Amino acid sequence: MYLPPEDEEGRLSSLESFAILDTPQEPVFDRIVQLAQASMRMPIAAISLVDRHRQWFKAQRGLGVTETPRDISFCTHAIRGRDPLLVSDARENPVFRTSPLVTGETGIRFYAGAPLRSSEGYTLGTLCVADTRPRRMTARQVGLLTGFASLVVHELELRRHAARDPLTGALAKAGFMVLGGREFHRAVRYRRALSCLMLDIDHFKQVNDRHGHAAGDRVLAAVADAVADALRPADTLGRVGGEEFAVLLPETGTRGAVRVAERLRRQVGRLKVPAGEAAIAVTVSIGVATCGTADADFPGLLECADAALYDAKRGGRDRVVANGAQPEAAEEACGNPEAACELTGPKRLVP
Ligand code: GH3
Ligand code: MG
Ligand code: MG
Repeated sequence: MYLPPEDEEGRLSSLESFAILDTPQEPVFDRIVQLAQASMRMPIAAISLVDRHRQWFKAQRGLGVTETPRDISFCTHAIRGRDPLLVSDARENPVFRTSPLVTGETGIRFYAGAPLRSSEGYTLGTLCVADTRPRRMTARQVGLLTGFASLVVHELELRRHAARDPLTGALAKAGFMVLGGREFHRAVRYRRALSCLMLDIDHFKQVNDRHGHAAGDRVLAAVADAVADALRPADTLGRVGGEEFAVLLPETGTRGAVRVAERLRRQVGRLKVPAGEAAIAVTVSIGVATCGTADADFPGLLECADAALYDAKRGGRDRVVANGAQPEAAEEACGNPEAACELTGPKRLVP
């Protein structure tokens, strides 16, 4: 048994924003683990990322597996604190002595795990070392462990930063597609709802023509900000084209997705972006698609949202169309269009 940390959902969406789970081995992480192992003379060292039901190893030495169930892991306990968790003899420890990692072939006796804290303050996992005999760690070794942990976080943050579009802070297309693919498989596998929005700024070329490209850029950033502000932590905004954005809405069916889309449309419509004497106002058209049995994959779902977006453009712009349904149907699904939507919360975008 383990107690999930407070704000586990926020922690998991922070972890997701790194798009690191199930990615291939990378030399820099292998090297850090190797150095941690060698400098402390440990048979086992790993970078463990604690997912909802498993710990997944970005790099490991001496374990021979890429993941284990979360409930048997040491790391799920280590991520609850700010300081490294030290277990000098797991067989003597009431929490760990029955873990298969202790009783089984791996035979862990000693464990030390330093939390990997993201810039938003969530603990993603640990850099950990372990031994098959009981031992103690010197203060110098604890310092080494936390030092290596901060190197791991630095690398993770660099990657996450590079995955973002610098102008809007939205996820760049490549990262968005990877994340979307993973969410799609999760939705199909566990039969969860998943919707996707395609959002395109109307007549954006005219904005550039009238006010200049720099003002156009500010409009793009303001639109992305307004959209991100209205999303839940679990939602993801991606910039998939010049003035096109896509939004991934996990656990959301068509009805909910249309409500979100309507909210975004209105929010963007209220923006006034200063440009000299003028204030630029824009509208957006949004296509909504919900994961159904017909979509073979995530690109298929996006195409479906794109087709709905095309219908919204053809229908006159500044509107929401769901899966090719008429705007009225979208309004109806949304209920009272003026009603405040319950979707609020911290924005998903990260610095
Ligand atoms: P529609 O309502 O049909 O979407 O019309 P539109 O004018 O928005 O569409 P169109 O595809 O004709 O033009 C998109 C414009 O977006 C053209 C391009 O110069 C501009 N654009 C794309 N990326 C950027 C960017 O990063 N910054 C700025 N300022 N403009 C951009
Ligand atoms: Mg456009
Ligand atoms: Mg476009």
